[in-house]
Amino acid sequence: MMMTRDVSLVMMSLVGLVVASNSIVLEVSAILPASVTNFQGHFTCPNVMLGKPKTEEQVSLIVKEHPLVKASGVGHSWNTEFTCSGNASNAVNIVTTEMQVLGIGCPDTNGDGIGDPCDTTLNPACECSTCNNESCQVDEANHVVKVAAGVRVRDLLDYLATYGESGGYTLPAFPWFIDQTVAGAVSTATHGTTMRHGSMSQQVTEFEVVLADGSTKTFSDENNEHLMSAMRVNVGRLGVNTWLTMKIEPQRSVRRSTRRNQPIQDFVGEMKTLQEKYIANRDMEGADHDGDFFTEMFGKDDAGLPIHEKAMYWFVPTQEAWHIQFSLLEVEPMSVTENQQSDGRGALTPGERRFMRSNARLWSEFYAGSVTYNVMPGTFASRRAYMSMTEGQSRRHRFFSAYDQWEMFVPLSKVGDCVAAVADRLYNSDDEAWRGFRTQFLMRLTNKESGYLSYSSDEPVMGFNMEDYVQYNNDGKNDAFQAVMDVFRSPVCGPARVHWGKAGWDQSRGQEVCFDGAAEFPNTWCDFGCAVSELDPNGKFAGISTKWQWAASSKSSSDVVVEFAQCCGPDGFKKDMCTCESVLPAEC
Ligand SMILES: Cc1cc2nc3c(=O)[nH]c(=O)nc-3n(C[C@H](O)[C@H](O)[C@H](O)COP(=O)(O)OP(=O)(O)OC[C@H]3O[C@@H](n4cnc5c(N)ncnc54)[C@H](O)[C@@H]3O)c2cc1C
Repeated sequence: MMMTRDVSLVMMSLVGLVVASNSIVLEVSAILPASVTNFQGHFTCPNVMLGKPKTEEQVSLIVKEHPLVKASGVGHSWNTEFTCSGNASNAVNIVTTEMQVLGIGCPDTNGDGIGDPCDTTLNPACECSTCNNESCQVDEANHVVKVAAGVRVRDLLDYLATYGESGGYTLPAFPWFIDQTVAGAVSTATHGTTMRHGSMSQQVTEFEVVLADGSTKTFSDENNEHLMSAMRVNVGRLGVNTWLTMKIEPQRSVRRSTRRNQPIQDFVGEMKTLQEKYIANRDMEGADHDGDFFTEMFGKDDAGLPIHEKAMYWFVPTQEAWHIQFSLLEVEPMSVTENQQSDGRGALTPGERRFMRSNARLWSEFYAGSVTYNVMPGTFASRRAYMSMTEGQSRRHRFFSAYDQWEMFVPLSKVGDCVAAVADRLYNSDDEAWRGFRTQFLMRLTNKESGYLSYSSDEPVMGFNMEDYVQYNNDGKNDAFQAVMDVFRSPVCGPARVHWGKAGWDQSRGQEVCFDGAAEFPNTWCDFGCAVSELDPNGKFAGISTKWQWAASSKSSSDVVVEFAQCCGPDGFKKDMCTCESVLPAEC
């Protein structure tokens, strides 16, 4: 066969890249980035391959070569449903934490002449940040940072906090846990507490994504609002996100105050009042009520300052609540100090902490003590004022005992009734369900946001973060915990939406909630389906999940089921012509 010199050169370089991409696809064998499991070695994806690209070109090649693909961060999740790319060697999970850009300025540990990124929660000896001036490009003029997908949220926050000449910057709102990747956090609408800025997903202004055909595309509200709304909370279903641009703001001085030891019956009353006030005022304020609306609702702190954000703890066995309140001060921020550091290695064999099966009250007191540092009243720069786990706490959580974390999002219009029903189930039933809990519930607020799969896509929500430490130390059983989850999933609580990155999805562990997308997200589920039809028509990023199913019927021909793609247009699902139909799993 005759070939021109130019064509043969192109082919040779393509062959070289394929070989290079093959050599970076490894057999999966411990935890990410060595094995596709969650951070404690549970929720495994057996038989899949593991892609460890170092450049964006390699990401693209791996995506193109494999029929089934899923992006992975550092596995700080509790499900296989949205983690596993498949269950055989034709499926590849691609980690974003080995990209060269994250290791710039770090020691070259493997001798290939290039700095190697490291994870300081796993290796305390490592002092290298994944954030450098290439992987985290701050644009002070436009108040944004362009950040590589695999950067750790903690590294980004610490980098921003000391950036520039005038007190540093911060993400406007960030979660309690900050040792996940930025793209992982955004994919699942990871959130802190804020009625002003929304989850991490809402703070993104632009996504760069490798799509099913290996091409790279940029999404923003300006170039395609529909696809951007799908991207915001994408659960890895639309492609491999390689870069994100996120809003930043100068650090502010924030006063943190606490109200402790509130009896649960008073807390229930306070939540009922919040619900009533919200319902009474939401229409008056219009659909897009802003943070000021909530500042009005929360009242003032003990210094008479308006409370602009708040979080709450519910200590289940001891039946008390704490309120942690944040008020903005109109003064320059204090300098930001390092979070405390400490070691916390341990083993995680199931059953290893059998003593956690009992003594619910004692454990509750223990965990209350462990967060005292985080809620200490005072005035801090934003990075420290809003609560986040220290690295020491992060390691202790990881190595102390196996556990699953659940989070249920309750619409504000139901929060009082829901809290009353949960309290009733916990304290007034013969099985004394409160005995199934060790750590406190953490409750945080998120205002309405635009991501189709956001927990607050139609109204503000309160997230109830809950942990199950008992089942791993009790032969897989914690019926009391599950009974309370059932209350959250009943109509009195919404039903509450379930966090995309937490537990509640895996059938194999008997945790699966009965999920019907069209009912769970009545206004946006089929919009997301249209984005999937457009960007991933062959289901490359579907993974092992059975939840990604869409159906539609025509409004004009007496509810006849139609091909789903016919109901999709440039702005998403054609709601005027079609009805988004349920596709209920058989087991529901
Ligand atoms: C101890 C602990 C505390 C937590 N606290 C909070 C909290 O305060 N608030 C909160 O909301 N959540 C919290 N979480 C949940 C956590 O933020 C999410 O599960 C997050 O998605 C984990 O990010 P990861 O980088 O580990 O990604 P992974 O767990 O590896 O992946 C999670 C999902 O993101 C997708 N994904 C990852 N990277 C990409 C990418 N580059 N492109 C496309 N999709 C991608 C994956 O496909 C998968 O569906 C907590 C988790 C832990 C372990």
